[in-house]
Amino acid sequence: MALTEFQLIRRHFTHAARRALLGIGDDAALIEGHGRNSYALTVDTMNEGVHFLAGADARNLGHKSLAVNLSDLAAMGAAPRYALLALTLPSADERWLEAFSAGFFSLAQEHGVELIGGDTTRGPLSISVTAIGELTSALRRDGARAGDDVWVSGELGGAALGLACLQGRAQLPAKEQAEMVRRLEQPRPQVALGLGLCAKASAAIDLSDGLTGDLAHVLERSAVSARIEYALIPRPAAFARLNDAALEQQLVLAGGDDYELLFTAPAARRGELEALGSRIGLALARVGTIEKNPDGSGGSRLTVLAPDGKPISDPHSHDHFAAP
Ligand code: ADP
Ligand code: MG
Repeated sequence: MALTEFQLIRRHFTHAARRALLGIGDDAALIEGHGRNSYALTVDTMNEGVHFLAGADARNLGHKSLAVNLSDLAAMGAAPRYALLALTLPSADERWLEAFSAGFFSLAQEHGVELIGGDTTRGPLSISVTAIGELTSALRRDGARAGDDVWVSGELGGAALGLACLQGRAQLPAKEQAEMVRRLEQPRPQVALGLGLCAKASAAIDLSDGLTGDLAHVLERSAVSARIEYALIPRPAAFARLNDAALEQQLVLAGGDDYELLFTAPAARRGELEALGSRIGLALARVGTIEKNPDGSGGSRLTVLAPDGKPISDPHSHDHFAAP
C-alpha cells in the first residue's frame, strides 16, 4: 500500500537529532543560539496546482509563502528573524515578480523578518521559504498532559470554505465569499499568540492540515488522548448561510489552511489565557480535554463528540500522498 506523507517522512528521513536540540517531528527544528536563546528553523513549499490554483494572485502568494512559515515559528513560540526564499519560475515575468515581492516584504516588514538568501531557478511555479526565529523556551508538540484543556485560536474552517467556493463546491453571498477567500489567500500567522503562550501552554501546533489531523500529531507526540466537542469549535458565521451540515463538519474538523494555533494548557491557566486573548485581541476557545491513553489500546485516541454526545467518526486531514 502507498505510504502516507507522515509514514514516508518517518521511514526515510527521521533520524535521531544529535547536535540539534530538537529534530524532525515538530513545527520547526531547534538549534542552540547564544546565551539562553535557541533558533527555530522551518521550511514550507507551495506548488502551483497543489497548494494554490493556477493563476493565483502573485501578491497573495508572496504573503502566504512567508505566512505559513511564520505560522510554524509561532507554533514554537519563536520570534521571527530571518527568511530564505527559493523560487522556481516558469519565466521571468516582471509584473508577477513585483507583486509577489510586494506581498512577501509587506508581511516580512510587519514581523521584522530579514530576507538573507535564497535560490532562483526555472521550472513549474514553486515557492519554498525557510524561516528562522529565536526563542528562549519552546512550545513543543510533546508536552500535553492528561487533564489539560485543548484550546484553539480564531475560527476554523473558513479558509477551506473559501477554497470550496472557488472550486464551486459551496456558494455564499459575494461579501462573505470574499472574506472566506481572503482567509485562504492571506492567512495571518499568530505570532503574538505564540510568543504569549510561552511558559503558559504545555504543547502547541499550527493548524495547517486541519484540526483532527493536527491535534492527532500532538496526541501522538505527547502519548495522550483527547476528547473534543464539535459544537465548541468556533467557526465563521458564513457556515450558517451555507446550510450544509455535512460539508460544514468536514471543513471545520479537517479543512486545512486556517493557520490558527491549537494548544494545550493546565486548567489552572484558564484565567491567564483569557487575559492573553483579550490583550492581543484574539478569541481563544476551549474545545476539549486531554486524557490518558486508554489501557491496552497501544496508542492515542481522538474522540470528537457531536451535540447529542455521540462520537463523530473521525474525518481525515490533508495528506499529500493519501489515495484519492
Ligand atoms: P508542518 O505542517 O508543521 O510544516 P509537516 O507536517 O510538513 O510540518 O512535517 C512534519 C515534520 O516532518 C516536521 O518536523 C518537518 O520538518 C519534517 N519533515 C517533513 N518532510 C521532511 C523531509 N523530507 N526530510 C526531513 N524532515 C521532514
Ligand atoms: Mg506546522
